[in-house]
Amino acid sequence: MPPNTDSKAPTSRNDVLFERAKRVIPGGVNSPVRAFKAVGGTPRFVQRAQGAYFWDADGQRYIDYIGSWGPMILGHGHPAVLEAVQKAALDGFSFGAPTEREVDLAEEIIKLVPSIEMIRLVSSGTEAAMSALRLARGATGRSKIIKFEGCYHGHADALLVKAGSGLATFGNPTSAGVPPEVVQHTLVLEYNNLAQLEEAFTLHGKELACLMIEPIAGNMNFVRASVPFMKRCRELCTQYGALLVFDEVMTGFRVALGGAQSVYAQLIPGFEPDMTVMGKVIGGGMPLAAFGAKKDVMQQLAPLGPVYQAGTLSGNPVATACGLATLRELQKPGFYEALGARTQSLVAGLTQAAAKAGVHFCGDSQGGMFGFFLLGQLPQNYATVMTTDSPAFNKFFHAMLDNGVYYAPALYEAGFVSAAHTAADIEETVDAAARFFSTR
Ligand SMILES: *Cc1c(COP(=O)(O)O)cnc(C)c1O
Repeated sequence: MPPNTDSKAPTSRNDVLFERAKRVIPGGVNSPVRAFKAVGGTPRFVQRAQGAYFWDADGQRYIDYIGSWGPMILGHGHPAVLEAVQKAALDGFSFGAPTEREVDLAEEIIKLVPSIEMIRLVSSGTEAAMSALRLARGATGRSKIIKFEGCYHGHADALLVKAGSGLATFGNPTSAGVPPEVVQHTLVLEYNNLAQLEEAFTLHGKELACLMIEPIAGNMNFVRASVPFMKRCRELCTQYGALLVFDEVMTGFRVALGGAQSVYAQLIPGFEPDMTVMGKVIGGGMPLAAFGAKKDVMQQLAPLGPVYQAGTLSGNPVATACGLATLRELQKPGFYEALGARTQSLVAGLTQAAAKAGVHFCGDSQGGMFGFFLLGQLPQNYATVMTTDSPAFNKFFHAMLDNGVYYAPALYEAGFVSAAHTAADIEETVDAAARFFSTR
């Protein structure tokens, strides 16, 4: 841990809160990456946020490039969203009975994502991916699944897996508490590796329920599935009767109005996944996620079909109000063009600043999602992402933090720009990075 690189006075409220938190919450946090374990130092306890900024417990302001890990695409406290949430809250927090707003949100998502004909709302991405997996297995009557190293699909047991020792063997749990038997049907392949994909389908294709993939992987920073790779995923799934499941929890409504699938549909004629998992942006910062597919698949779900799935808070009236108001803002003309251009200007600015200082750096973005690497060229898979010089990344992270710029506190996480980020915010960020690079 770099001592005192980021904490100011010993009386920092962040330090005090972190000490208190650690006594009552494991690691002081309710989700591990928040603890700054990878980068060292004291996590910032957020006091409040507005637009592109948040303020920590010491009153320090940060330009926020996490946006709650993606949901805050409009920036914090957008007036239309705030109003919708306040109005909904006055009518009640939760009923455990259907509401009109759930129908509105389902119709809205289906209108914008043509591969989805029916959708079920849940409360977290984990729950959505777990349920999608069960539905894929139920609908196909098959058990085996393919996932890719570096893709995260939430923390359901069957999806917490790393690669096994070969394609004939299946994965190993990445977490204690997951029995090997639970992941024995999960095959983990290298992202963008066509030869492995072919071999896996040749060996197991007829037993596969689904192939689940982050089409633009945001949990190994930012890695796109190549077009030939994605095309082959589609072809093989069709050929062997396995479902192609897009985990768009991060990319849905973030990289484009139609999600990453609309980006691939532009590059591969007629392309669409069989099932889509969503979260983050569709809740606008409230606990809301969903999974959807064609009718024949979705009708396998209870109460229509034999695949059980349920939730006390599913389709929550306040969360759906927040999600709906968010989705309506995104449909305003030029929204994604402006967001995409702003995000590109950030990546371009950082790249130029690094080049000027002779620092290895590259980056990529789509819509309001970006990634950058202290590497000479963009990586294609998890193993290459992990060749990043992590002490160098940590120095960069802390230098930016000290300058009021909040990037993800881990080198394997994507970043997010919101509609509230201004050209001046980007300039301030690039200037801070340039100062850091020039000292390298
Ligand atoms: C965030 C994320 C999840 C998990 O969502 P939670 O709401 O954190 O459970 C699943 N898949 C992807 C691609 C994600 O980015």
